[in-house]
Amino acid sequence: MPHFLHRNYREGRPASSDCHPMKKTLKVFKFGGASIKDAAAIKNVAQILQSYSDDPLVIIVSAMGKTTNLLEKVVEAHAKKTGQAYALLEDIKNGHYQLMDELFPRNHEVYALVNDTFVEIEWILDEPPHDNYDFMYDQIVSVGELVSSRIVQAYLHESGLPTQWLDARDVILTDDIFREGWVQWDETVDNARRLVPPMLAKGGFVLTQGFIGSTTENFTTTLGREGSDYTAAIFSFCLDAERMTIWKDVPGVLTADPRLFENVVKIDRLSYKEAIEMTYYGAKVIHPKTIKPLQNKSIPLYVKSFIDPSGEGTCISDEAEDLYPPMVAVEMNQALLLISTRDFSFVAEHHMSYLFNMIAEMRLQVNMLQNSAISFNVCVNDIDDKVDRFAERIQDKFKVIIDRGLELYTVRHYHPDVLVNLRRGKIVLMEERTSENMQMVVKDVPVMRRRLQPLPSAKG
Ligand code: ADP
Ligand code: ASP
Ligand code: MG
Repeated sequence: MPHFLHRNYREGRPASSDCHPMKKTLKVFKFGGASIKDAAAIKNVAQILQSYSDDPLVIIVSAMGKTTNLLEKVVEAHAKKTGQAYALLEDIKNGHYQLMDELFPRNHEVYALVNDTFVEIEWILDEPPHDNYDFMYDQIVSVGELVSSRIVQAYLHESGLPTQWLDARDVILTDDIFREGWVQWDETVDNARRLVPPMLAKGGFVLTQGFIGSTTENFTTTLGREGSDYTAAIFSFCLDAERMTIWKDVPGVLTADPRLFENVVKIDRLSYKEAIEMTYYGAKVIHPKTIKPLQNKSIPLYVKSFIDPSGEGTCISDEAEDLYPPMVAVEMNQALLLISTRDFSFVAEHHMSYLFNMIAEMRLQVNMLQNSAISFNVCVNDIDDKVDRFAERIQDKFKVIIDRGLELYTVRHYHPDVLVNLRRGKIVLMEERTSENMQMVVKDVPVMRRRLQPLPSAKG
């Protein structure tokens, strides 16, 4: 069987199970969509939390299961006036009510709370679609977290785990770039320190929503898809948590996504640097913005399994590791923009500056770039119509060709054999290497169908 771990990687580690010697008190836990996807899953979360009933604990929850994807469809249907928005919302509501029926008696107050929250979407659907799609998106999609947090809080309370519900929008202040709110740190720190410690002082847990925040005008914002891990890091930073734990459906951080590769191996310890590099380029297990606030305060991050909570998981901390196995991250939905001057003039500094300003203004995420005499090639995440809007805005000055449906492979600590295996069945459109990083933008060779690939070993 191919094994790609360097032997010393496993041997060169300290024996201690706690990689962070500093002992503070507060813990922050985050439970994502998969961990609260149905009634049995929520019961399992309560079970896990029984062991922490004496700890000061802030709990962050995402929307249940795939609710956010379903709410996105409601937004789309309303914006496009397909007439389906109410029916799609009804399905989401029914899913939540069915789950609640398994957890609570019919006269429980949580039904009214959840109903009142869903009504907010109905009010939006009663009006014509808002001109600002992103604004409307945040007002609707945020409801996923608002209802899940009501349900989980009520269930914990019922299970003998006193838990107070906190509106994350009273803590996390963002700018007014909807769908990708940027945290206003000073106000957020003040809010967290004013609101959370008195709640914790009463005893029991404090439970709040991931993913959402508020503008100064009290409009709801979201922090970007999968942003609940980031919310947990924001609370950890503001409250100087002793540690943060994200509970996932995997045993920890693995050498690659187990949905795409076989033979993946758990990494027991990772430095913040490794974690940030992997997650920035698509290791979906942790939202990339999560690492910085934790690193800034040396708060260790544990990635643990909600399926096997006794497992050690992965600890991400200051501790430097110098030997890692090859790790692969795959970012889907990439677009390659081939940008060239219209008059054969060189792509000079003033062109670059213009293009980067535009990229920053539109908050495009650039994953790779290369330039030559008269061209500038950039690989970005292909989100909604951002790429088209960008191309439109620069087309008077530049010719733009867009290649879509691409994948970005990032391999850290690569070995030549690993790369050979990864290239199989792919056309490589752009490639770059440093001593520890290799990246390539690829598309499938047309005749080959996508299937589960063996994770390439260093020995081939
Ligand atoms: P959450 O329920 O918290 O939203 P996610 O689904 O976002 O959790 O993250 C967990 C998933 O991340 C796993 O099911 C796994 O398929 C995927 N994943 C991608 N890369 C990795 C990796 N390197 N290690 C572990 N899991 C990974
Ligand atoms: N519910 C949000 C999403 O699915 C945030 C999260 O799960 O982290 O993107
Ligand atoms: Mg997620």
